[in-house]
Amino acid sequence: MTDEEWGQTQAALEQTVGKNNYLTWIKPLAFHGCDDGVAEFGVKTTFMGDWVSRNFGDEIKRECLKRGIQVDRLTFKVAARPAKAATTEQVKAAAAPAKPAKAEIDLPGAPLDKRFTFDRFVVGKPNELAHAASRRVAEGGPVTFNPLFLYGGVGLGKTHLMHAIAWELQARSPELRVVYLSAEQFMYRFIQALRDKQMMDFKELFRSVDVLMVDDVQFIAGKDSTQDEFFHTFNALVDQGKQVIISADRAPGEIDGLEDRIKSRLQWGLVVDLHPTDYELRLGILQQKVENYKAQYQELEISDGVLEFLAHRISNNVRVLEGALTRLFAFASLVGREITLDMAQESLADILRQSDRKVTMDEIMRKTCDYYNVRMSDMMSPKRSRNIARPRQMAMWLAKHLTQRSYPEIGKRFGNRDHTTVIHAVRKIDELKAQDSQIAEDAELLRRMLEA
Ligand code: ADP
Ligand code: MG
Repeated sequence: MTDEEWGQTQAALEQTVGKNNYLTWIKPLAFHGCDDGVAEFGVKTTFMGDWVSRNFGDEIKRECLKRGIQVDRLTFKVAARPAKAATTEQVKAAAAPAKPAKAEIDLPGAPLDKRFTFDRFVVGKPNELAHAASRRVAEGGPVTFNPLFLYGGVGLGKTHLMHAIAWELQARSPELRVVYLSAEQFMYRFIQALRDKQMMDFKELFRSVDVLMVDDVQFIAGKDSTQDEFFHTFNALVDQGKQVIISADRAPGEIDGLEDRIKSRLQWGLVVDLHPTDYELRLGILQQKVENYKAQYQELEISDGVLEFLAHRISNNVRVLEGALTRLFAFASLVGREITLDMAQESLADILRQSDRKVTMDEIMRKTCDYYNVRMSDMMSPKRSRNIARPRQMAMWLAKHLTQRSYPEIGKRFGNRDHTTVIHAVRKIDELKAQDSQIAEDAELLRRMLEA
């Protein structure tokens, strides 16, 4: 990628990420070059690089790809510090506390992603409660749930919902000071304020907001002074009747390294979780994203069954689902014809492989025991009576087909048996399957149960 191409990409990014985001995050990036799919940028702080990578990484790659430049990875180099043999002048200059830019102090929050609105949030069983609670809080008015605590696994929509609340509140009551930031940023600002001896400003600033949203609060677990400050800020706001919204990847009580007093305070309001997505929700999200893409960019033909296939096979988080779609879109724009199931499978092979659900030995043993109604201890025992030997052979056969384990590893798990026993078992089941429809059916059923 040439400097000029990066310039064009940057200009396009201004459209997609919005002016504010562009000025804060994209414009300051110093393009160093792109080699072998790795684009390098200079940034002022590591934090900035992380932020850009996390929030705009996909967008940057997408814009590059639109220009025919494949960027697989973004790296960020923090502007060089003075070398060892620096002059005393340089050392002094570097040691002097940098006066924080005024703008940074004025705006403690992080930029909001314009795609993360309620309109674009697909509601299904797994997230309906979290969505309803978020909507309620976004309506403003008397504070009912304080704090609202949203939790759930990676990529299930916590950040999306928080941004949606912020957008909605701002639209309804532009005078409200709504501040959204990650716990990591909260810590970063806190440390910066300590270093620059601006703690009074820091406290004042955070206590003057009307709505405070802190994302991924698990991040401050174990970081004692930050936790402390967070706790005080939190209390001050809640006591004033200001709305606080928190997210984490776990329930408050399960965050190790978080002080008990904070855990219990976090549970005062409403705690709701986002459950892992189910097939319907994934399909709904895929359909919505395709519609958005068509409305925003260009027509797109996708064969029947492709989205269903993806919703079925990619059971990971929504971000992975989106990544797959983005690749499909890029692919579609390159080949310029209908995306078929074969094309999808081929272009997404790596993502599909990664998402393949890993079946564990333990699950295999448990399900097989349940199915044949035998005890786990029997499975492991030296007993050889057929009513136990057959289920054991079946479990070994399943282990061979559904996991990456070797014969010796499998043997070991089944009461330290020799690998030849496992080979024999696998052969035996293959033979029986061909002769005995009952065995064939058992194998099929068990396999399906385990892969579900
Ligand atoms: P989390 O913060 O829980 O890790 P995010 O809110 O960042 O997850 O969501 C990851 C991506 O998935 C985002 O691009 C978001 O827009 C999308 N996403 C998650 N849930 C939904 C949903 N229900 N409808 C539409 N998009 C969703
Ligand atoms: Mg998040």
